[in-house]
Amino acid sequence: MSDSLFSDASKRLEKALKYVSLSEDVTESLKHPKSSLSVSIPVRMDNGSLKVFQGYRVRYDDTRGPAKGGVRYHPNVSLDEVQSLAFWMTFKCAVLNLPFGGGKGGITVEPKALSKFELERLTRGYIDAIADFIGPNVDIPAPDVYTNAMIMGWMMDQYSIIRRQITPAVVTGKPLTMGGSVGRESATATGAFYVIESMLPKFEKVPTTTTVAIQGFGNAGGILAELLYKAGYKVVAVSDSQGGIYSKQGLDIPHIRQHKASGNGIKSVYCKSSVCNLEDHELLTNEELLALDVDVLIPSALENQIYEGNVNNVKAKFIFEAANGPTTSAADQVLEDKGIYVFPDILVNAGGVTVSYFEWVQNRSGLYWTLDEVNQRLKQKMVEETQQIWSISQEFGISMRTAAYVHALNRLGEARTAKGTRDYYINGRKS
Ligand code: NAD
Repeated sequence: MSDSLFSDASKRLEKALKYVSLSEDVTESLKHPKSSLSVSIPVRMDNGSLKVFQGYRVRYDDTRGPAKGGVRYHPNVSLDEVQSLAFWMTFKCAVLNLPFGGGKGGITVEPKALSKFELERLTRGYIDAIADFIGPNVDIPAPDVYTNAMIMGWMMDQYSIIRRQITPAVVTGKPLTMGGSVGRESATATGAFYVIESMLPKFEKVPTTTTVAIQGFGNAGGILAELLYKAGYKVVAVSDSQGGIYSKQGLDIPHIRQHKASGNGIKSVYCKSSVCNLEDHELLTNEELLALDVDVLIPSALENQIYEGNVNNVKAKFIFEAANGPTTSAADQVLEDKGIYVFPDILVNAGGVTVSYFEWVQNRSGLYWTLDEVNQRLKQKMVEETQQIWSISQEFGISMRTAAYVHALNRLGEARTAKGTRDYYINGRKS
């Protein structure tokens, strides 16, 4: 386990534990996932053959409420990864003071290789397999990498078929017509935008002279790029899984998003369209993007992108982690030593789960909010918690990441303590 993502993720916890006073019982129990489910999902493919996919759901902790966390469809999904993501969700929900614990799910699959019907059968099969493990008061899935509102809609529908009752609150990130919330699709990016806007002025940075590079151009990175562009930031580089593009003058982000939405990769934007002749641009790899001399770097793709092997190339002054776990703990230490400010995933990308919480509240109350209401509540939460974490980091002279874990641990510790010993076995029996 020593090289696993989970053991690396756990190092952040160890570091933060020095700044909180929690009982050994509480700290020991927070080091282990509550339960993990591994399932085989047989899917009839369009050509008539049968293929079996591996799926997971992990409930890391539910002390503060039902487990909450996305479902990832990716060829590299493993139990180790899902467990790590569930661990981060536990701390993220506590950072934002949401009444949720942490969970996560995933299927090991290359979704781009499936037809829409195969994807739907896989999704319904996954819900069949984990239906007894999830529920609106137990564990609530949401979108993550390569899953979206359409897939969440299938999940909710399948769960409702199994339970023989419409159960919108079992999944968040659904289409609006199936009980989704306005503002959920852009929530991760919008939340990250609020964090950026509340932190950069402390360093006397203003949008027009702030250069930004973004790795990953999906739900988190693509929407955030557009928000920053519209606010006047100079987004000079963006990338997707195929590679990226760079322009010293700043990129035309709405144009790139439009191009990407029509099914093209970012790399082809400038080469295939007329913009090719209008703008000074370069193609670059994801590694090159991470090493650009920019003010702000925003990893918005996958884990372990900044690691021991490339951390010394990083020249950005500020890193805002829109992705989960983009920086390894070893790289983190180097960044800290170099004086680079890292704003951690469990704060920066928490806008997604915050509006998922709002969606769950709306589903349960039956009363739906306007976009203004959603965004106002989101802004209030993101800014308030960012400021509190900033204060903790200043008070103890620690990084924003450690401060965020301290903030979360205080809340988790309080909830665990309030529950007494009901979670612990004594002499082979639950007390
Ligand atoms: P997405 O599927 O919408 O987009 C992923 C993007 O990353 C795509 O542009 C893809 O091309 C790119 N990508 C994939 N592999 C890459 C690679 N090796 N190098 C560079 N780019 C690569 O996914 P998303 O929802 O935007 O998720 C991105 C990150 O944000 C993940 O870490 C996810 O856990 C995190 N996150 C997402 C949400 C959410 O609500 N969607 C919430 C919190 C955190």
